[in-house]
Amino acid sequence: MARTVLVSGASIGGPALAFWLHRYGFEVTVVEKAPELRTGGYKIDLRGAAIEVADRMGLLDAARAAETEMQSLSFVNDAGKRLVSMPAELFMGRGEADVEVMRGDLSQMLFDATKDDVEYLFGESITGLVQGDDGVAVSFEKAAPRTFDLVVGADGLHSNVRALAFGDEAQYVRDLGYQVSIAGVDNHLALDREELIYTVPGRTVNVYSTKQMTGAKALFLFAAPQEPLQRRDVAGQKAYVAKEFTGAGWETDRLLAGLEATDDFYFDSVSQVRMDGWTRGRVALVGDAGYCPCFASGQGTSLAMVGAYVLAGELAAAGGDHVAAFAAYDREMRTFVEKNQELGRNNIGQMIAKNRFQSWMGVQMMKVLPKLPWRDAIVEKMIGPVREAATAIELKDYQTPVQDGRSADSLGA
Ligand SMILES: Cc1cc2nc3c(=O)[nH]c(=O)nc-3n(C[C@H](O)[C@H](O)[C@H](O)COP(=O)(O)OP(=O)(O)OC[C@H]3O[C@@H](n4cnc5c(N)ncnc54)[C@H](O)[C@@H]3O)c2cc1C
Repeated sequence: MARTVLVSGASIGGPALAFWLHRYGFEVTVVEKAPELRTGGYKIDLRGAAIEVADRMGLLDAARAAETEMQSLSFVNDAGKRLVSMPAELFMGRGEADVEVMRGDLSQMLFDATKDDVEYLFGESITGLVQGDDGVAVSFEKAAPRTFDLVVGADGLHSNVRALAFGDEAQYVRDLGYQVSIAGVDNHLALDREELIYTVPGRTVNVYSTKQMTGAKALFLFAAPQEPLQRRDVAGQKAYVAKEFTGAGWETDRLLAGLEATDDFYFDSVSQVRMDGWTRGRVALVGDAGYCPCFASGQGTSLAMVGAYVLAGELAAAGGDHVAAFAAYDREMRTFVEKNQELGRNNIGQMIAKNRFQSWMGVQMMKVLPKLPWRDAIVEKMIGPVREAATAIELKDYQTPVQDGRSADSLGA
């Protein structure tokens, strides 16, 4: 029965999985290719089932204390005039119980909750996996080869473990036709818990500053087919974003200068990962690696948190029998994943205007919405699908099995 687990990726899914596996008595090693924990990124939401998971981890209070406390969101024109403003929670369908934190803050919380109990190897990556009857022989970029009972890829959209165990990513990564870049920039607009959105056909720029931030975050979203950019070529990615947005109007050029200067930079295609199964032999995938719903769903982090909880719980419930546990993981997660991926596909088209008319219409709709008698019904139509997707799984209260007269909890906790 499985007892040792190697996890690739220390962002959200990896440390969350390590937390639960350790709780159930497994020995966990996490490899992360970055030299240290990556704390950049945008604000992200924890919703529905993921809030329950954070609560069961004992992290909900800390997450609430780190909330962004965003107040409002405004669409601006080329001259910077606020055309229409609305409460922040209406955007992206945020409900009262949801928690919005910076991705890096959550990643840090998960790391802090596991670092004393889990072996973390930073600046490391898996180079080979050979599955046998008794385990997986793993080779690394730097460390000596080791054998683990199980290997889990929590290494994101371009998962290394998925490539090694399931094959080329072209089979699984579905490009939705957009590219996104997020950068830490100066707060030269003196924003205070406010987000500004500027849209021109095919391009959207957002900038905001949260309660905790001294600077600001800028997001550049644009319609474009996937470019064969080198993922490690940050300078090339920055140049690509600059080429697409220079002269687009409003404060865009100044924000691009900030993007050029910063180390806090994220760039990727807006894509989903769609797979018929997330396990193969002794290898499993968690989070974006197996079922990235795309950033427009607002649910990638919640899926990773819930997936980690379910995978670890099923392994504990099956007493380490990975065959039974992996089958149950797939069964439990399938509908939840599909509903959230549907959200991503529906939302992305609304985040970018195809032409000037659509851009104008979007603003007019926001202006008249508060005055409409059926306003609540429209708001419900916006928020309802998000709430439905976020709660489309019933979390089991995993009872850890009794082994050799001891519960798995007592083995590890
Ligand atoms: C620095 C950063 C910034 C992000 N910013 C945003 C954002 O602004 N908006 C948004 O919607 N999403 C962002 N994301 C993605 C978001 O975190 C995920 O969609 C979601 O939280 C699911 O998390 P995950 O743990 O499954 O995958 P990810 O968060 O993608 O994490 C994957 C982890 O695996 C590591 N990794 C990759 N390859 C290897 C390898 N070969 N060996 C070892 N480790 C490897 C990565 O460095 C990363 O730490 C960001 C991710 C990162 C890493």
